Amino acid sequence: MDQNQIDNMDEIDDKILDIYDRIETSLNNLRIEIRNLTNELIRAKKSNRNIKNNDTKILPPWDKNNLKKKCTICDKDFNIFYRKHHCRACGNIVCHTCSKHKYPVPKFAYYKPVRVCMGCFMQQNL
Ligand SMILES: [Zn+2]
Ligand SMILES: [Zn+2]
Repeated sequence: MDQNQIDNMDEIDDKILDIYDRIETSLNNLRIEIRNLTNELIRAKKSNRNIKNNDTKILPPWDKNNLKKKCTICDKDFNIFYRKHHCRACGNIVCHTCSKHKYPVPKFAYYKPVRVCMGCFMQQNL
């Protein structure tokens, strides 16, 4: 494999991870919906029964802002032009600048150099 092919594979890999990320986000949003609906149900039941004491627990609302919109390392905002990348070693979502190093990560079966973040590169903990 030449460098171009490796780069292409890396891009495809990034796209797959991106899809995983979106599925996870959708799932998370669904979980939040269910949680909020459960809370509403509990509240409705509570007012129905006319319970005066606070004996029915209401779950704390979840933060809807669970989508990573910033680079984990430099905090720069992502957008269509400033794309996010995944570190193959730690899974963190980082920007291009913070993931320009490539190393093999044998513990995750990446035997060819793949994208790793600054943090992993500095620690060399691959
Ligand atoms: Zn960054
Ligand atoms: Zn990393």
